[in-house]
Amino acid sequence: MSLSLIQRAAYHANSTAFTTDTVMYRYQDLLDRSHQIASALLGDTNDLAEDHVAYLVPAGFDYAATQWGIWRSGAVAVPLSVSATLQEWKYAVEDSQSKLIVTNNEYAEQLRPLNIPLLNINQMTEAAASKLPEVNPSRAAMMLYTSGTTSKPKGVLTTHDCIDAQIQSLVQAWRWQSDDRIPLFLPLHHIHGIINIMSCALFSGATIEPFNRFDITTIFDRVAGNAYTVFMAVPTIYVKMIEALEQLSDAQRQPVIDGFAAMRLMVSGSAALPASVHEQWTRLTGQRLLERYGMTEIGMALSNPYLGERRPGSVGLPLPGVEVRLVDEQANVVDVDDVAGEIQVRGKNVFREYWKRPEATVDSFTKGWFRTGDIAVRESGYLRIMGRSSVDIIKSGGYKLSALEIEAALLDHPCIKECAVVGIPDDTWGESVAAAVVTDTATAMDLSTLRSWCQDRISPYKIPRHLKCVDSLPRNAMGKVTKPVVADLF
Ligand code: ATP
Ligand code: MG
Repeated sequence: MSLSLIQRAAYHANSTAFTTDTVMYRYQDLLDRSHQIASALLGDTNDLAEDHVAYLVPAGFDYAATQWGIWRSGAVAVPLSVSATLQEWKYAVEDSQSKLIVTNNEYAEQLRPLNIPLLNINQMTEAAASKLPEVNPSRAAMMLYTSGTTSKPKGVLTTHDCIDAQIQSLVQAWRWQSDDRIPLFLPLHHIHGIINIMSCALFSGATIEPFNRFDITTIFDRVAGNAYTVFMAVPTIYVKMIEALEQLSDAQRQPVIDGFAAMRLMVSGSAALPASVHEQWTRLTGQRLLERYGMTEIGMALSNPYLGERRPGSVGLPLPGVEVRLVDEQANVVDVDDVAGEIQVRGKNVFREYWKRPEATVDSFTKGWFRTGDIAVRESGYLRIMGRSSVDIIKSGGYKLSALEIEAALLDHPCIKECAVVGIPDDTWGESVAAAVVTDTATAMDLSTLRSWCQDRISPYKIPRHLKCVDSLPRNAMGKVTKPVVADLF
């Protein structure tokens, strides 16, 4: 199973798995605690064979011990978001048909109205440790919901084998080591936090410092103290850190910059990292961010190289063990540069099914290849994402335009801090280009200024015809812009 995670923990038994201001937990503690939780879950049964067990536990040692405990009981782990509402927990628990929620003192009261059995890990009786079942790695292990960027989140069921393949590919590509130290502040109900950060670190015997949220002052303090060797975040976090660094005095900024510069790896993903942000980060810290691409259904598929060129605006090359191809609208495989196609993926990393959505599962595969719905072009081997076919590819006057490319041109404008480009229905053009922008507080932007800025940068048919200035863009829990909500603004 991704129980290879659990098997490997024995090799690192005395290393520190989690550390906080006040307490350290070893890998042995994870093994003991997860065995205890598995025993409590099992009770008088031998094996919870693919029962769905939801869990709501804050980031950290208890979270990992709970996830491992669920796996060791034979069940499927269904993580709930700590920042969700009761209604959202209800949806996830009902949709996933979870039999039970594992939680702690902090959340037990809040969950009580759901009327579903709870196991409170702070109040477990010290039952004798059960003999744990043998779990076949082809069994379902985890159900994660997609981010819900384009529609209602879908439950994605992965097996232990999938999770294992996802972890091992990244450990190899990004050279995870047992002396790595990483902060964990991303939500733990999404692939980025769970697999790329937590599981890869634990597979490698590395040390995680968990936080309940991203607090820039705390993180900068820790970075200045050289607390980390690896750092992983979403693009919006890099944007915020650039702003915050620029506001520090030289004396305050230098130790933070030195801390970032000393790390062996900094990764961005989950949404497009604008090339301008990539370049600014390098200018500020000397670090070349490594951008990668993946999704809940497949784990990570493409990555800029650990050694070698990390190209701004590109997601790089296929990861070890992952096959990637581009396919055009006539279903032909694209094998030349600069021609757009859908990214399709094959490999052990690919999920088993969308939970309770058999048609969606069937529709998302073509002859064994998973259709990501993301469009990309190859540029001397590296893939550049043009966007999602459903919301980022704008069909206007016979052209197919990439919202991401137009956004990059807008972001180059010194007064535009953030932007989102969408297509809106247009009688003449089919769709026309519309931009929502967030400007510096001092600056207002009007359509004619924006259009003349674009004239030297992008072809006339790509230039926005509609503009809305907004205070902030609508984003989901992963910090991704929810484009259907943006389109509704126009
Ligand atoms: P939903 O499927 O519910 O609409 P979602 O697709 O955002 O939500 P995730 O599985 O978390 O849910 O995200 C995967 C998507 O994120 C990819 O399909 C792709 O569109 C986008 N993505 C991930 N990494 C990158 C990247 N580096 N550049 C551009 N897009 C990216
Ligand atoms: Mg998706």
